[in-house]
Amino acid sequence: MARPGSECVRVCVRCRPQNSRETGQGVAVAVDESAGQVALACVRSTEPPRAFTFDAVFGPEASQQDVYNATARDLVNSVLAGFNATVFAYGQTGTGKTHTMEGRKTSEAGIIPRTFQQIFNTIGASQAQTTFLVRASMYEIYNEEVRDLLSKNPKNRLEVHEARDGGVYVRGLSTFVVQSQAEIGAVLEVGTRNRTVGATLMNQDSSRSHSVFTITVEAADAAVGEAAGSFRVGKLNLVDLAGSERQSKTAAVGERLKEATKINLSLSALGNVISALVDGKSGHIPYRDSKLTRLLQDSLGGNTRTVMIASVGPAACNHEETLSTLRYANRAKNI
Ligand code: ADP
Ligand code: MG
Repeated sequence: MARPGSECVRVCVRCRPQNSRETGQGVAVAVDESAGQVALACVRSTEPPRAFTFDAVFGPEASQQDVYNATARDLVNSVLAGFNATVFAYGQTGTGKTHTMEGRKTSEAGIIPRTFQQIFNTIGASQAQTTFLVRASMYEIYNEEVRDLLSKNPKNRLEVHEARDGGVYVRGLSTFVVQSQAEIGAVLEVGTRNRTVGATLMNQDSSRSHSVFTITVEAADAAVGEAAGSFRVGKLNLVDLAGSERQSKTAAVGERLKEATKINLSLSALGNVISALVDGKSGHIPYRDSKLTRLLQDSLGGNTRTVMIASVGPAACNHEETLSTLRYANRAKNI
């Protein structure tokens, strides 16, 4: 039997295709989708490739639809049934986190716009006696500071508060009630535009912040005949994490170094929370160690479901970072 908490965390790895700068260079990553295995070869040694097994792996050929069906689809169903859930994209800058979460228009749409479609399709097909209220918000955590991505003034720093019942929330965060797929799509567009972008040597427009898109779905069933009415609320957090690359690789100094240290702090805090949940043996889950884990506390562990999608690139020159991503993901996994 799985340990308590362990069955609610799924860890997946996605390897993007080679890009034009990488063609002609060595490939270090081999993906076996049917076995759920990723093998990483080290080009500088004769050691055999190291293999890691995950709940699911996606190779360069996997479509956005394939990834969605195997990761977020079930989570959306459980959110509509009144549970909380979280999807994380983790990995080095340039490996495809934003492609996986947001993607591009239409057929290349990522997880976030596909959840909009699934939620509003389900609502549209539901019984007349059920009424739904869908709300959306979007914030980013940058240098351990929370910023509202939907406010007129996105530079505004917001405070994290703890309610009397122990719930943690961002005071003053903008929240919009949305009535359609188009309306929530417009909310995402505004938030994406406002997202802080910082240049690093790795990738000029890499984001140095964690962004969190939250959808809350309330459903009320009216009383019919003998049956009593009921009310449920579920929350889905869709998180595009900041790049996990180490600061040395991006030649960080000054502000950039301070930033990198804080980014790594919240990524390691997240890793610690997930491995404590999966381990199930430690009574203490260190949610309080970072803003990210504090704010997601009610959607990580307990009665909730979590999917972590670790992204990697195929190039041999990224061997070290790819290995560190696979190790991070491996630690979050239910063994
Ligand atoms: P990250 O958010 O991790 O920094 P991006 O999502 O911005 O990475 O991806 C970097 C580049 O690679 C983008 O141009 C993106 O369109 C492309 N890319 C990433 N994953 C895929 C994929 N699976 N298929 C095709 N292109 C991809
Ligand atoms: Mg990105």
